[in-house]
Amino acid sequence: DKYVYDFAEGNRDLKDLLGGKGANLAEMTNLGLPVPPGFTITTEACKAYLATGREPDGLAGQIEAHLEALEREMGRRLGDPDDPLLVSVRSGARFSMPGMMETVLNVGLNDHSVVGLSSQAGGNDRFAWDSYRRLIQMFGKTVCEVPGEEFAHALDEAKRAKGSTDDLDLDADDLRGLVEAYKKIFAGHTGREFPQEPREQLDLAIRAVFESWNAERAILYRRQERIPADLGTAVNVVTMVFGNLGPDSGTGVAFTRDPGSGAQGIYGDYLANAQGEDVVAGIRNTVPLQELEQLDPKSYHQLLDIMARLEGHYQDLCDIEFTIERGKLWMLQTRVGKRTAAAAFVIAGQLVDEGLIDLDEALHRVNGAQLAQLMFPRFQLDHDFVPVARGIGASPGAASGTVVFTSARAVELAAEGRSVILVRRETNPDDLNGMIAAQGILTSRGGKTSHAAVVARGMGKTCVSGADEIEVNVPAKRFTVGGHTVGEGDVISIDGTTGRVYLGEVPVMPSEVVQYFEGSLDPAHVDNALVRAVHRIMTHADDRRRLAVRTNADTGADAARARRFGAEGIGLCRTEHMFLGDRRELVERLILAATDTDRTDALAALLPLQRQDFVEIFREMDGLPVTVRLIDPPLHEFLPPLEQLAVNVAVAQERGEDVAKEEALLAAVRRMHEENPMLGLRGVRLGLVIPGLFAMQVRAIAEAAVAVTRDGGAARPEIMVPLVGAVQELETVRAEAEKIIAEVVGDSGVEVLIGTMIEVPRAALTAGQIAEAAQFFSFGTNDLTQMAWGFSRDDVEGAFFWRYLELGIFGISPFESIDRDGVGRLIRIAAEEGRAARPGLKLGICGEHGGDPDSVHFFHEVGLDYVSCSPFRVPVARLEAGRAAI
Ligand code: PEP
Ligand code: MG
Repeated sequence: DKYVYDFAEGNRDLKDLLGGKGANLAEMTNLGLPVPPGFTITTEACKAYLATGREPDGLAGQIEAHLEALEREMGRRLGDPDDPLLVSVRSGARFSMPGMMETVLNVGLNDHSVVGLSSQAGGNDRFAWDSYRRLIQMFGKTVCEVPGEEFAHALDEAKRAKGSTDDLDLDADDLRGLVEAYKKIFAGHTGREFPQEPREQLDLAIRAVFESWNAERAILYRRQERIPADLGTAVNVVTMVFGNLGPDSGTGVAFTRDPGSGAQGIYGDYLANAQGEDVVAGIRNTVPLQELEQLDPKSYHQLLDIMARLEGHYQDLCDIEFTIERGKLWMLQTRVGKRTAAAAFVIAGQLVDEGLIDLDEALHRVNGAQLAQLMFPRFQLDHDFVPVARGIGASPGAASGTVVFTSARAVELAAEGRSVILVRRETNPDDLNGMIAAQGILTSRGGKTSHAAVVARGMGKTCVSGADEIEVNVPAKRFTVGGHTVGEGDVISIDGTTGRVYLGEVPVMPSEVVQYFEGSLDPAHVDNALVRAVHRIMTHADDRRRLAVRTNADTGADAARARRFGAEGIGLCRTEHMFLGDRRELVERLILAATDTDRTDALAALLPLQRQDFVEIFREMDGLPVTVRLIDPPLHEFLPPLEQLAVNVAVAQERGEDVAKEEALLAAVRRMHEENPMLGLRGVRLGLVIPGLFAMQVRAIAEAAVAVTRDGGAARPEIMVPLVGAVQELETVRAEAEKIIAEVVGDSGVEVLIGTMIEVPRAALTAGQIAEAAQFFSFGTNDLTQMAWGFSRDDVEGAFFWRYLELGIFGISPFESIDRDGVGRLIRIAAEEGRAARPGLKLGICGEHGGDPDSVHFFHEVGLDYVSCSPFRVPVARLEAGRAAI
């Protein structure tokens, strides 16, 4: 097996094998750019090492051969006492895992070669001894687990002895002394001397990089970023070049465009007379890259040329790391750079303008999650707001509010109409009420899949998790951060997109992208690169997509907004939502009706209200299809809770009040009480049990459609029956509905379709039969997921999903993103068998998954006709439907 590749042998397509860094070093080498020579040990070698605990056969020999070739090329031998070759040993996995794994610099230095290095550097003793002490420090920490603080202490000690706080004040003698101190620390912890043999240093460093794949922080990071655990890392062995050889040397990082906004220009930092880790450690302040033009114009212009070439080659924003060694520029790394959501759209648009990519490629390079981020309101940070802490952006949005530390207090203050931020070390299921009451949630522990994060995302609530600079003291009702103490009642602001935490109230700014979708920003006339780019890419997505996008809306206002956002109809109007609020009592009366007259009265009161609802919606959706679902109430949502009623009755009795009416209600609620109301009397079952209910709704829909049509509009109602599991249920409802429709519609020209939801597994499995009685199907993936997994929708996510995510049983909640294997299989079966029975059967989906990017791709693949999602998700679904089609 080939485990080692010279840089000249690889290319950028070999990321699986060579890791991102190795593949791109190879690519740059082959472009003829100045890359320090070296070779890459493959991820396969790492995987073999991790599986067996030892290096695979043949690896040592291959390293030897490549090292010899490198030595020949450089004209130096590794660790040679007179003229040493030194190398760095760098990790580099398939996906970038910044700072998670290890690097060792200056491998090859020992008590002898340190002298050779000094003469190489023109007699620069200070530099040579500084490099040696860095090796012992990094090697000790990384390879031999010597606590890093011990070295840091010794360094501080040396500076104190010198009366300085700056590393640069230490001279060669001081550093020679420090090397002695470091060696003692090393020997004290490892029970052996610091290895002097260069090849042994190299082998141990390579092994340490392999092992760092399984370091705790790397495991945590992978889990958060959903990077597979079994990829392994590659190891790059690279000839050392030095940015710390004097004022004509230095090191820097740069982006070919602004990764924050996408703007063109030069973005980077430079630090003269320093090595890469000094930049990362923030020991000294960097200067803007532009200043390099004064310091070293030749290198500066060469760098700009290289950056332009890399952009042209990768056809994308690149980030780079470079070093200048005595006026000679070296490229140490490049990759297609990470960027914000806004920059992703802007850059994709620019690259189309520049002729580097076409619109399909631009569409491919952005995604729905980024678009969704751009639709949240943002903090207006042009004032003096400096974050006091930074955690993980666990659930996007911007929230300001009064700090509280307990759920009870959150509920209390929210009831007073105050906006609150719940601050906890971590949340648990007992905090659910507080999380519901809060505007935002801040925790000092936990990652993207912690309880707080999962639950907050489910609720669409802003959440920052794992802000570990914050010390939370719940009993004392305060937290401290960076010298500030924040108590209950103080106001903070949290940004769930960036993970930043601010003291005080930060003003919030509405999203420009939403203003554009709303129609209040005209892309042709606004000087806003983001809005123009979004417009252009959305237009292309609309051209490309095959899936139609509808919306879930229950009111005229929601329907109107969704239409502005591009919805092409309503895929789900939940009529039970029309019965909440003031009308709840009417429904209560209906459900509890003891006699036919009671019931008829209740229905008669509801009919005109319903008709008016539908008129408004049909008007807003003029000319577009509107799927109205007959009532599907989990009954518990309409009746007072049993316990509360029982308490009320007892209290009233105690007071000697007349409780006859309350007792009757209590008895009825007892009779209907269900342990799992989601699987009880709801949907079509309710329609079959309560005479006249569905009939009233069908009449209201038909009458509204006729009224709107008579007024010159075009109503296109589609009546949808929920929770059907057997064709007989649908047939019964349909027979009654058709009679009413025929009677109401007459010769008005209104056409009403009758179809069903597919949301009970049995419906999916008997879709062929059901299609005989249905003019369309709409998949209710919320219930389908609930029933396929046996997960109670209302109960499970907060209760234990965090644990399932932690264990990797699923990577994302199946209520959030469609479970392709299980629930998805039911959908495939139903789509195929339904269309076999009724060719051309219209198929849609109206569960929450209709607005989830990955799920949209699945629905495209299965061949559905449309997805339907909440108004705010409509643009996301349009974009992803376009992406699915290219
Ligand atoms: C569904 O079950 O997916 C659905 C859309 O209906 P509801 O969420 O109202 O049960
Ligand atoms: Mg449902």
